[in-house]
Amino acid sequence: MQIAFDNSFHATMEGFYAPAEAARPSTPRLLAFNHALAARLGIDATGTGDDELARLFSGAELPPGADPLALAYAGHQFGHFSPQLGDGRALLLGEVVAPDGVRFDIQLKGSGPTMFSRNGDGKAAIGPVLREYLVSEAMAAMGVPTTRALAAVATGERVQRERAHPGAVLTRVARSHIRVGTFQFFAAHFGAEHVIRLSDYAIARHFPELAEAANAHLALLERVIDLQCSLVAHWMSVGFIHGVMNTDNVAISGETIDYGPCAFMDRFSVSTVFSSIDAHGRYAYGRQPQIMHWNMARFAEALLPAIHAVDPADVERAKELVAAVPDRFRSVWLDTMRAKLGLGEAAGGDPELIDELFAELERHGADFTGFFRALSRLLRGDRAALDALLPGEGAMGSWIAAWRARIEEEGGDFAERAEAMDAVNPLYIPRNHLVEAALAAAEAGDMTPWLRLLETVQHPFAARADRAEFAGPAPEDFGPYTTFCGT
Ligand code: AMP
Ligand code: MG
Repeated sequence: MQIAFDNSFHATMEGFYAPAEAARPSTPRLLAFNHALAARLGIDATGTGDDELARLFSGAELPPGADPLALAYAGHQFGHFSPQLGDGRALLLGEVVAPDGVRFDIQLKGSGPTMFSRNGDGKAAIGPVLREYLVSEAMAAMGVPTTRALAAVATGERVQRERAHPGAVLTRVARSHIRVGTFQFFAAHFGAEHVIRLSDYAIARHFPELAEAANAHLALLERVIDLQCSLVAHWMSVGFIHGVMNTDNVAISGETIDYGPCAFMDRFSVSTVFSSIDAHGRYAYGRQPQIMHWNMARFAEALLPAIHAVDPADVERAKELVAAVPDRFRSVWLDTMRAKLGLGEAAGGDPELIDELFAELERHGADFTGFFRALSRLLRGDRAALDALLPGEGAMGSWIAAWRARIEEEGGDFAERAEAMDAVNPLYIPRNHLVEAALAAAEAGDMTPWLRLLETVQHPFAARADRAEFAGPAPEDFGPYTTFCGT
């Protein structure tokens, strides 16, 4: 198999990374390979056997043209600055340019220690690897910007966590692995010249049109803020909680990155937290916009030397951009919610209608994903799903009446509107109970449930008669659900 590597970061950004090597597992075994993603990247994997794929995507064999390296970065973790993090369990093999011209990183995660590993083993266990594969592919299928999974390979070794687990390596594909924390690292240790170089690289790679701006670094800040507002609104609109929104887990490309303790909520509650280490709910569902705002303030601080170097007066403008994040988010959020509710144009009462919806969902503990699908069924004249979902006669009756009135005001064809709603409101998400069952089977050697769940969430919108068991919430006796950081 040939991968046409074209490693721009390695070639042009010396000083921003450390060369690194993969630990070579002795008996790699392919668990999953994403042929659709390979095709999208322009990698021809047809005719490549599982054993060769397992060697190439576990570090056992270095694909020709790879320039393996570990990236340096810093980051605010739970609000506290760690001046040196970096790829402690990941290895960038290199970059490929897809047939449509988009450049992607190909990275191994769990491939052994690097100079940034501190006390960690640099390894990953099979459960978190298959979890990231599944959840990131579900997010991609829903249209949420995200890193993706190209391969999962079992290493044949044991990884010691709270107990021993089978080890695995994930191949992660991203538009780049440049994070807010990457900027923070070079701002903290090196200063303006390095920040400018990194910013220039990020602009050339992701947003070449910004190079023409009067102050390209300021334009980068604005663009990254826009992308983060859209991203977090999109997460929340599908009930997703990232769980560890540290600045080292915020990608400049606007993609979701680092699927650790993330999860989708079933019963709606704004204060939902799944992460075992998030004792104070810093990264709870409803706090995500505030945290994103805080993270963008940290990004602005790190970029400031570059912004200042072009024009000191633009420092004020950067402050204004950060101060405007909550308003910007609110406007994106309302647009996102209008689409979920089948509303075409903005109208005066929308903010109240939408805020009231969330208060009602919380009051009734309604299944978040199921609710929006039940609404479109109601538009088609079928209220069975809604009745099943909401306990008690007439629950949410006045909100539903207000929403219907709003729909009728706009007019148009109800069936079409229901169709449009179903195209943005997923029916099949990686429900926690299904994920856990699939991972337990995989760890015991049976990949069948995982593969079936993956195939289901890869087609999240259209109902399928043989997938009914994937659409409902967890049984009452499931939970409380806890997720963990360490992959
Ligand atoms: P994360 O929680 O995945 O965002 O990781 C935070 C930092 O810890 C990053 O620098 C990781 O590379 C590092 N890290 C996490 N797990 C390990 C591990 N098992 N071995 C080495 N470094 C790790
Ligand atoms: Mg991370």
